[in-house]
Amino acid sequence: MWDVDGKRYLDGSSGAMVSNIGHSNPRVIDAMRRQMEKSTFGYRLHFETEPSERLAAKVASLSPEGMEKVFFVSGGSEAVESAIKLARQYAVTVGQGSRWKVISRFPSYHGSTLGALALTGYAPLSDPFAPMMQAMPKIPAPRAYLDGIAMDDPATGQHYAAMLEACILEEGPETVLAFIQEPIGGASTGALVPPAGYMQAVREICDRYGILLIHDEVMSGGGRTGKFMGGEHFGVAPDIIAISKGFGAGYAPLGAMIASDRLINPVLDAGGFLHGHTYAGNPLACAAGLAVLEEIETDDLMGNAARVGAVLKSRLQNLMQRYSFIGDVRGEGLLLAFELVSDRQTMQPLPKALNAYSELVELAYAEGLIIYSRRTRGGVDGDHFLVCPPMITSVDQVDEIIDMLTSALD
Ligand code: PMP
Repeated sequence: MWDVDGKRYLDGSSGAMVSNIGHSNPRVIDAMRRQMEKSTFGYRLHFETEPSERLAAKVASLSPEGMEKVFFVSGGSEAVESAIKLARQYAVTVGQGSRWKVISRFPSYHGSTLGALALTGYAPLSDPFAPMMQAMPKIPAPRAYLDGIAMDDPATGQHYAAMLEACILEEGPETVLAFIQEPIGGASTGALVPPAGYMQAVREICDRYGILLIHDEVMSGGGRTGKFMGGEHFGVAPDIIAISKGFGAGYAPLGAMIASDRLINPVLDAGGFLHGHTYAGNPLACAAGLAVLEEIETDDLMGNAARVGAVLKSRLQNLMQRYSFIGDVRGEGLLLAFELVSDRQTMQPLPKALNAYSELVELAYAEGLIIYSRRTRGGVDGDHFLVCPPMITSVDQVDEIIDMLTSALD
């Protein structure tokens, strides 16, 4: 990217983990131009359009077995809203109207609309709106690296999943509708990969209590982890998936909720899904989404994300030898993050007054590198940085990213 003064940047965060195939891809622009010349809008309650039908079929083929229904929206918050509203409407339809609570994790980010915000474990964003939202139960995210527990011991996964079971029992299983989590964390946890056994244990607990499992793949979906869905790394299928961000890849506002016939059909038979957004599934956005998926397939960009991501991750890990204040490097494929700490033994955060999370971003900008930062500990303390360049990134560009990052860290 070049700014108005002609200064060159490498986009080391793909915007907000969105521009997965890079900026200004000529084939995507051409596909959109061709679609614009044909039609740009068809109201979804009147008819489907060819791009929306083709894209739905494509997304279903990339989703876990049996998840063949795709409901288009225009962004991540809308996808999460759709997921929780489908879950609730399904429960009501099948005579389980006592179920309404959606358990989520802390910290987490699921969107800015009031339903998705109620699930968001990030107090600075949600507190002002607390009186306007239904409080929802939250359990800690499985941050074994902070708690000093071994990531690769299946007992660790059991330990964190047991917190979900305890929460369900405390709330009363007959009141709990769903559990929502990111399979691989995005901005709120900084590319958190769950510990061994966690995802499987969560699935088992949800099944034991008849609770729907929702995967928020808004950031982890779309291919940048090396697989189309982040959840694929663990061999666990959810009941509902929300995707966006890298799905439209910055070319169009696009998202989707994906679910099985088992959930959707009873709702449709009972009169239809009581939810929708006017621009959802518009042909221009769907044509862009199709062209993005074609680019990913044709150029094996998921394979590239896995290969180049492994190189980038090991280069970031090397930086830990040089800087004692890097406490952790984590992530999968090109969804990677590092965390700054005062003390690697205790994982104590840097003093808040240092404002590392904005200072380092500014220093990186000066070098010509865009990275993405967040407060780590529930959004109130700690500093982590996502290094998530587009899936087209080369190893040479990884070297450039690391050089610029090193200068900024120095
Ligand atoms: N879920 C996750 C995991 C996200 O990262 C985001 C956006 N950062 C959202 C939901 C909301 O997406 P949007 O901003 O497109 O509404």
